[in-house]
Amino acid sequence: MGNTKLEVIQGDITKLEVDAVVNAANSSLLGGGGVDGAIHRAGGPAILEECKQIRARQGGCPTGEAVVTTGGNLPAKYVIHTVGPVWHGGAKGEQALLTNCYRNSLRLADEKEVKSIAFPNISTGVYGYPKDKAANVAVQAVQEYLQNHDTGLKRVVFVCFDAENLELYQDLLPVQPS
Ligand code: ADP
Repeated sequence: MGNTKLEVIQGDITKLEVDAVVNAANSSLLGGGGVDGAIHRAGGPAILEECKQIRARQGGCPTGEAVVTTGGNLPAKYVIHTVGPVWHGGAKGEQALLTNCYRNSLRLADEKEVKSIAFPNISTGVYGYPKDKAANVAVQAVQEYLQNHDTGLKRVVFVCFDAENLELYQDLLPVQPS
C-alpha cells in the first residue's frame, strides 16, 4: 500500500505506541463501555473534558463522523473518536456508515499529520456488527483511502481484542515484510 504498512495485532489499544488511537465512541461523546471505557480510564479526564467542549460546540458526533481530542495520559498523542453504526440487519446503510468511520478518522489523522494510527474493531462489540463483515469493510475502507490520498501515514494498525477478529484480519491482509 505505497509507503504505508498495514499491521494486525491482538491486544489492548490503550497500550499502543502510536501517534493516534481511534475510539469506537457513541454519539454523546460522553464515554461508555468497551473500548470507549478503556480509553477514558487509561487516558484520564482530559479526554472527557475535550469531548464535552466539542459537544457544547456541535452537539455530539453523528454516526460515521469523527472528532479528535488529546490522548491525555495515553502513549498516543491524539484520540480520534468515531461513532460506528449499530447493526440493524445490514439494510440501514450500515456498510456505508462504517466505511465513513474509517475514512473520516484517516482524514483527521492526516490533518494532524499523524504518522501512525491504530483502529479497534469498530461496531463489533455492543453495536453488534458481524465481525467478518466489519473486518472486510475496515480493510477495504483503509486500502481505498490510502490509494486515493497523498497521506503521510506510515503505519495503520488494526488492533483486535479477540482471537476471532485476529484471524479474520490476518486472512484479509497479506503478510508484509518487516
Ligand atoms: P461498539 O459499540 O462500536 O461495538 P465496543 O467497544 O463495544 O464498541 O467494541 C468494539 C470492539 O473493541 C470490540 O471488538 C471489542 O472487543 C473491542 N475492545 C474492547 N476493549 C478494547 C481494548 N481495550 N482495546 C482494543 N479493543 C477493545
